[in-house]
Amino acid sequence: MPAINVLIKPASGNCNLHCKYCFYNDVIENRKEKNYGIMSYEILEILVKKTFEYAENMVGFTFQGGEPTLAGLDFYKYLIELQEKYNVKKIQVNNAIQTNGMIIDDEWAEFFSKNKFLVGISLDGPKDIHDLNRININGIGSYK
Ligand code: SF4
Repeated sequence: MPAINVLIKPASGNCNLHCKYCFYNDVIENRKEKNYGIMSYEILEILVKKTFEYAENMVGFTFQGGEPTLAGLDFYKYLIELQEKYNVKKIQVNNAIQTNGMIIDDEWAEFFSKNKFLVGISLDGPKDIHDLNRININGIGSYK
């Protein structure tokens, strides 16, 4: 069996920003099921269990959105518990997250550091450029 990378959207199209160019605003309108909400712990467990059953050598879990931090820090703590439980072959695990960074605080940062997450923060360059498009629901730029 091969190494495997899984791309997970744990918050469906939910986001705490409202970027002008976000494709989700269009995509969601055309979906039969507009939004699947936050992924349940039960689904997360099935996903982790099956991934480890299938993979050899390496497993990669990458989280993106919507905004993946909206699943909550406890969701990711549970992910680590599940990885420890189901990684019976003791293969390499790579965790990554792409986030707008809006709710990242010291506790999140410590968790990511401790568990060696690769963290991508979405920024559109300097403030004047970023704030043109990456705005909140009230139209305020999110750079700060
Ligand atoms: S942060 Fe990402 S998901 Fe959220 S509105 Fe902006 S582009 Fe869309």
